Amino acid sequence: MQFRNFKMVGYVIYGRGSFNQLEQILEPRREDSLPMIFLVDHFFKDKELVRNIPAKGKDKIIFADVTYEPKTTYVDSIAAELKEDFGMVSGIIGIGGGSTLDLAKAVSLMMRNPGSSADYQGWDLVQVPGVYKAGIPTLSGTGAEVSRTTVLTGPTKKLGMNSDYTPFDQILLDPELTANSPKDQRFYTGMDCYIHCIESLQGTFLNEFSKSYGEKALQLCREVFLEKDSWNDESDDKLMMASYAGGMSIAYSQVGVAHAVSYGLSYLLGTKHGIGNCIVFNHLEEYYPEGVREFKKMVEQSGIYIPKGICAGLTEEQFDKMINVSLGMKPLWENALGKEWEKIMTRERLKDLYQKL
Ligand code: NAD
Ligand code: ZN
Repeated sequence: MQFRNFKMVGYVIYGRGSFNQLEQILEPRREDSLPMIFLVDHFFKDKELVRNIPAKGKDKIIFADVTYEPKTTYVDSIAAELKEDFGMVSGIIGIGGGSTLDLAKAVSLMMRNPGSSADYQGWDLVQVPGVYKAGIPTLSGTGAEVSRTTVLTGPTKKLGMNSDYTPFDQILLDPELTANSPKDQRFYTGMDCYIHCIESLQGTFLNEFSKSYGEKALQLCREVFLEKDSWNDESDDKLMMASYAGGMSIAYSQVGVAHAVSYGLSYLLGTKHGIGNCIVFNHLEEYYPEGVREFKKMVEQSGIYIPKGICAGLTEEQFDKMINVSLGMKPLWENALGKEWEKIMTRERLKDLYQKL
């Protein structure tokens, strides 16, 4: 038995208004004449948050275009531009949803590792630490703030740069930054966390470490999405901690069927992570009966539309592609269905499932 010896985030600060402490945190990390780079979700372009970023001197604010989920080509182009402009930088500070956090992690690594980020899609391929990196989430749910991966779409695969050098050196969790995020987006990203919990807690890889975090995160999701009629500050506080705990839960177990299937959708159709998981989870009664029942209640109570019929009209070749991507996620299937998963999740059965979406 090999136990996972996993690298965690270096420092964590939590609290409403903690964003105001950012400069104090960054000051000792500033290297002589090298700038801090703030990689900020493009949603905030004209928003107040940008005025509160402690940029000074040669520091630069770059707005991350997250219209599509991060691509290796985008990571490479940001890193190349920074090297050309500054040679080296003091650090990369990612401020945004899961996409921006992943971009920040990847750009930090590519400031010091040669070649393309596509060369490092996989497990433990990154050879040297990147530059200092901090993550500041503005949406809650993905757990990207605590994970050791950065999900990237590359020329041949959608896979993260999983490594001990990937986790942030610092995260800043300020629930005020998630206030006023649109209801639908908040729900889809929040459900990513809910689904992490169900998949972790119902998985065969479960252990007391994952269970402790998973149960807490699940309880917080329930409080936020079922037990309250309206959204308030406390909901933002709770969902931010749910995301953190959900991420810690899967760090020591694995996700399951919804994620494995939704990876196929995202590869072929570009369906985004949060909504893609919801589309799939909506049809997983067979695998997670209680979780799906509760999910449907949350959907109804929040008044959210979950798209249907997204695989209508796809060709055989397209189904094949999705099935290949999905079945490639071996640890996810093994966690969900056990060691004999290949006998259970046949190509035909998976195709039936895709056809239902
Ligand atoms: P996102 O980062 O893709 O952002 C979704 C949308 O919300 C974007 O249009 C963005 O501009 C906007 N947005 C962000 N913050 C906002 C705010 N406060 N108010 C209003 N709009 C805001 O969404 P996400 O669900 O947080 O992240 C999904 C991404 O995270 C995917 O790329 C997925 O692959 C990745 N992910 C990574 C991990 C990991 O462990 N690294 C885990 C799960 C998901
Ligand atoms: Zn997820």
